[in-house]
Amino acid sequence: MAEQPDLRTIQHWDVLALSCIDGRFIGRAIDWLRQEAGIFDLRTELGASRAIVESVMDRYRFQNVLDTAVRLHRVRELWLLDHIDCMACGGSAIHAGDDAEMEFHREQMEKARRVLQRLAPDITVRPAYIDWERARFL
Ligand SMILES: [Zn+2]
Repeated sequence: MAEQPDLRTIQHWDVLALSCIDGRFIGRAIDWLRQEAGIFDLRTELGASRAIVESVMDRYRFQNVLDTAVRLHRVRELWLLDHIDCMACGGSAIHAGDDAEMEFHREQMEKARRVLQRLAPDITVRPAYIDWERARFL
């Protein structure tokens, strides 16, 4: 097992993640973020990228979190984590299959990315997706 970093000496890190609140996926999202990012900030909003695309109020609240993470933690990347069967987006039943559902989320995260790049032009937005088997960058 890798040696644990001394958290008292770490003040800055690169990643803020925006994940859905869905309890089936949040533990897996955290496991994946630990593996890929090490230390990260995490914000949850119902629907993840949907919150940015569809809700002005959620977007406004998230902008505050993003601005603070950039200022205090010097975050440089925002990872969007959408997931399969997201009830905030109608669930899997409204899609023709798993691939079609992933494409829907890919397009929605691209819309969110464009919005977020206007709010924070210096941030790199990376879309990721969790299905029944695994999490991965899209
Ligand atoms: Zn969800």
